[in-house]
Order: sequence, then C-alpha cells, then structure tokens
Amino acid sequence: MPVESVAGRNHFGDAAALLVRAASPERRHLVHGILWLALAAGLEAMGPLIGKFLIDNYLLPRNARIPEIAGLLAGALLAGMGASWLRYRQLIRLAGLAMRSVQRIREDVYGHVLRLPMSFFDHAIIGQLVSRVTNDTEAVKTLYVQVLFVMLDSMIVLVGAMAAMLWLDWRLMLVVATLAPAVALIVIVYQRLSAPAVARTRELRSDINAQMAESIAGMAVLQASNATARFGQRFAALNQAHYQSRQRELRANAWLLRPVLDFLNVLLLAAVIGVFGTRGGGGALSALEVGVLYAFISYISRVVEPLIQITMQFSQLQQAVVGAARVHALLAQTRAPVAAEHGRVTAGAIAIEQLDFGYLQGRTVLHGMSLQIAPGSFQGIVGHTGSGKSTLLSLLLRFYPAPPGSIRIDGIPVEAIGEDHFRASIGLVPQEPFLMAATARDNIAMGRALSEAQIEAAARSAHAHDFITALERGYDTPLGEGGARLSVGQKQLLAIARALAGEPRILFLDEATSHIDSETEQVVQRALSALRGRVTIVAIAHRLSTVRDADRIVVLNHGRIAELGTHGELMAIGNGLYQRLYLLQQLEEQGEESA
Ligand code: ATP
Ligand code: MG
Repeated sequence: MPVESVAGRNHFGDAAALLVRAASPERRHLVHGILWLALAAGLEAMGPLIGKFLIDNYLLPRNARIPEIAGLLAGALLAGMGASWLRYRQLIRLAGLAMRSVQRIREDVYGHVLRLPMSFFDHAIIGQLVSRVTNDTEAVKTLYVQVLFVMLDSMIVLVGAMAAMLWLDWRLMLVVATLAPAVALIVIVYQRLSAPAVARTRELRSDINAQMAESIAGMAVLQASNATARFGQRFAALNQAHYQSRQRELRANAWLLRPVLDFLNVLLLAAVIGVFGTRGGGGALSALEVGVLYAFISYISRVVEPLIQITMQFSQLQQAVVGAARVHALLAQTRAPVAAEHGRVTAGAIAIEQLDFGYLQGRTVLHGMSLQIAPGSFQGIVGHTGSGKSTLLSLLLRFYPAPPGSIRIDGIPVEAIGEDHFRASIGLVPQEPFLMAATARDNIAMGRALSEAQIEAAARSAHAHDFITALERGYDTPLGEGGARLSVGQKQLLAIARALAGEPRILFLDEATSHIDSETEQVVQRALSALRGRVTIVAIAHRLSTVRDADRIVVLNHGRIAELGTHGELMAIGNGLYQRLYLLQQLEEQGEESA
C-alpha cells in the first residue's frame, strides 16, 4: 500500500489510537495533568462568584466589616494564585509528556520502517517516508499541547462559567446560551475558509522541500542541461503560491476570530444589560441584582475567550489528525515475518527446489527453478537483462518471501533461520553500491564490532586498501553523501570490502565488478578465489570473463535455467545461449581493442 493512501479511513479513530499508544506508558502524568487543569479552571471560575458575594453582602449594604472583606479578598487572591500555580505545573507536565510521546513515536516509526519487507519499498516515496518520521510525528505533540489541552481547558472554563451562571440566574444563562448557535456558525464558516488554505500551505511547503532536495540530488544534470533558470522560476512560482495560501489563512483568522467573536461579546453584554434594564421596570436595580450583573459580565468574557480558542484550534486539529492518521497507517504496515531462532547456517550449501516467484500476482518472474549449490563452491549466474538474476538473489537473501520450503540452506528452510544469524552468515555486494555519508572505515564496518586489522584485511582483499590510504585522511576520510567523492568502481571495491569484512559463509555478488577495470577485477577475482572451499560464492555477471573460472555457471533465460555447467561444458553445447553470449562479447572486446 502506498504510504499516502490514508483517505477513506477513519482519521479520528486512527489519530486517537496513536495518541493512546504514545501516552500509554505515562498514564499517571496524563491523569495528573488533566486533574490539575480541571482544578485550575474550577478555581478560576470561583473569582466572579466571590466578587458577587463581596458586592452583595458588603459593598452595597455599606457593610464595612474590614476583617471579613479582607478575608474574602485574600481568598480571591489565593484562588487566583493557586490557579496560576496549577496551570504552570500542568503545562510543564503535559508539554513534557507530549515531547516524550513524539520521541517515542518517532523511534517506533523508524524502527518499524527498518523492519518493513523490501516489497514495501518498491512503492514507497522517500520524501513522504521522511516527512512521516519527522513532521507527522510532531502531530502527536500538536494534538496534545495545542489541541487537546487548549480545547479541554476551554471546555472546562466554559462548563464552569455556565454552571455558575445557571446557579445565579437561569433565565439570564439562557440568554448567554443563545451564543452557541452563532459560534457554531462562525466555526463552520471559518473551517470552510481556513481549512483548505491550511492544507494547501502544507502541501506547498512539502513541494518546496521536495524541489530543493531533487535539485541538489540532480545538480549535475541540472547544470549540464542548462536548466538552472527554469528551475529558479519554478521555485519562485511555488514560493509565490505558498505566500498567497498563507495570506488566505491569515485573512480568515483576521476576519473571523477576533473581530467577529468580539462583536458577539459586545452583543451579549448589551443583551444581558438590556434584560436587567427591562426587568427593573426602568427603575433602579435592586441591591441583589448588582452582584449578579457583575458576575455575569465577568463570565461572558470568560465564555467568549475559550470559544475563540476552540475555533482557532480547529484547523490545527484537522491537520494534526491527518498527520497522526498517516503515522498510524505506516505503523499498521505489516513487518517482515520474524524467523524462528533455531536454524543455523553451517557449511553454506544451498538447495532450491521447484521455486516459482513473481512480484505481482499473475506475473511470474521465476518458473519452477531447481538448483543445488555445493558448500564452498563458486557459482556464476549469467543471462539477459531482466532474466531474473537479481530476483533470485533477493529470494536467497529473504528480501522477498519465497514459497515456504522452496529454498533451503544446509537443509533448513531459509525462513526458519534466525534473522541476526542469517544476516551475519550471508554477505551481499549489491548491483548498486550503497555508501553512507560516513568515513571509509565506518562504511566497511557498518556498525559491526570489527577490529582495525579485520577492516584493513578486508580492504586489502577487495583491492580497496590502496585507494583508501591515498585519500587525504585514509580510513578516516568522510566519503560524502552516497560516497560522492569516490568513483563508481571505487564504491564497488568498498562494497566488496564491506561484504568480506563480515566473514560470511555465503557471499552473493550482483554485478559487483561491472564498473571496475579488467586489471583490478582480476585482483579482486583472485581474492575471491582464495575464499574457495570456505565460502559459497554466487556471482552474477554480465561480463562473462568474470565467471569463466567458476565451478559452475547457471545461464538464466526468462526466469528459467537454460543451461548449466562449467565454462568449457557450456562452450561445447552447439549453438548454446552461453556460447552465443560469450562469442558476442569476445567480438565486442576485439572491436574495442582495434578501434
Ligand atoms: P539485470 O541484468 O538488468 O540486472 P536481472 O536479471 O537482475 O536483470 P531482475 O531484476 O531479476 O532482472 O528482474 C526480473 C524481472 O522482474 C524483470 O522483468 C523486472 O521488471 C521484474 N522486477 C524486478 N524487480 C521488481 C519489483 N520490485 N517489482 C516488480 N517487478 C520487478
Ligand atoms: Mg539485476
């Protein structure tokens, strides 16, 4: 499943599942945070009630009992201070919880991606996956800090204020409650205007990042094809669109949030004061009503503020929910099955029996393949482009699941060999050498605990030692992203050194020497020959001279084994595939030499 396809799923359910997963180790913090939040909001709701009591009982009756008034004031002060303190504690707790949650989810996601089956990466887009791990995991924090708690806070304040008003004067409370539909309307209009703009801004931002990344990766092509000006224009257009989208967002905020809601606030105040006015029959307010009026005026502003806050969090909420749902979808991808731990690779004998395989349903790439490979032997695999050579290696390496039982190593089905042991026993030099942006040493060691001597010995065998020591800092020279500062052939030699350093029982080479000159290749060949009898080597090669000396050469044709034998045997087959390929290459080489 492509990473992006989360449409049609229940986003809220997925986001909630992610939040629960993120916070489950910290339930205590969460409960405390919410409790303190509720307490703080409750204390804040007390303020106007104390004010009313003060006005009604002491100020209006001109009842100047100083100690009691002082007590009440002190009570109000303490309540306010208590609320501030609780809010401070709650914020620290919840922010900490949110950040730890992001950290945990990020590790989870990365760890999960590392264990996804190779078939997942046939469809994955790197940029999207990266933003899954970096940006979308931030959604968890947004959901906690900005959305969940601001909303919860506002709700509690709202409910507290409404309850107090209900207790003071339920008819007046109903007047205030007419605010609800008006606010709902504003939220809906705001959503219509702002949500698409917020989503578009995000998209454009990721487009800007993507173009930047693509341009850097393809800089040589870009400059060589004189496309810099065009790319500059395209970038400017993206940037302009981003600016306009931001403007639309800001306009919706500027219009709807403060001004319209403030206007509602004024309307409400007018309505409440009006009700008081008509109630008194145009006469003076009764002494009892002044305190209520004061309390109501205080509460109205407390009701409107959370409503503004909730409205403002809505787009954030939407975005964060989508982000969290994407992360959840990625975490829901099934991992590669974990093999049982008991199986062991000992001698390195490989047995393939009636192996059928296709990447896609109904499109078989390998057809009923059977092959026995003796331990310690050197096998060559040759065949046309697309004949299934790399596919066969991928299956032997368990990158894709072969039908159970069809591939055995030392008599044990590959799927029954423990992962760590399996990877430690098997080396691979892939068709595309992959180097990390690290030193030559790190690229050979790949995090394995290898001694200096082991690394150097491997580099010598692979004929990589000379060019590595010629680098300005030898084995400690950083190689740049993807090994940018090496030639392709040098990268291949380094990849061979890396595979040899692990001292595998079985070594797979996929076109491992295709970019290396013939002379250097012969040195590498000799190093590989020295492993004969100890390491089973399976080498794919287009250049047939590479596998001339193999114990046996397997010729693949459209996913089937066409011919099998030593170089001499295959050359003896009249008009055989191998013979044709070999003679063709010889002709080419002679042509190159005479040219
Ligand atoms: P080459 O010599 O060019 O490396 P090959 O013999 O290694 O060729 P494979 O890479 O094994 O060829 O590909 C065999 C067939 O499987 C091809 O038709 C290819 O299109 C298809 N194929 C390879 N990888 C995938 C994939 N990940 N998903 C779907 N089809 C694939
Ligand atoms: Mg291949």
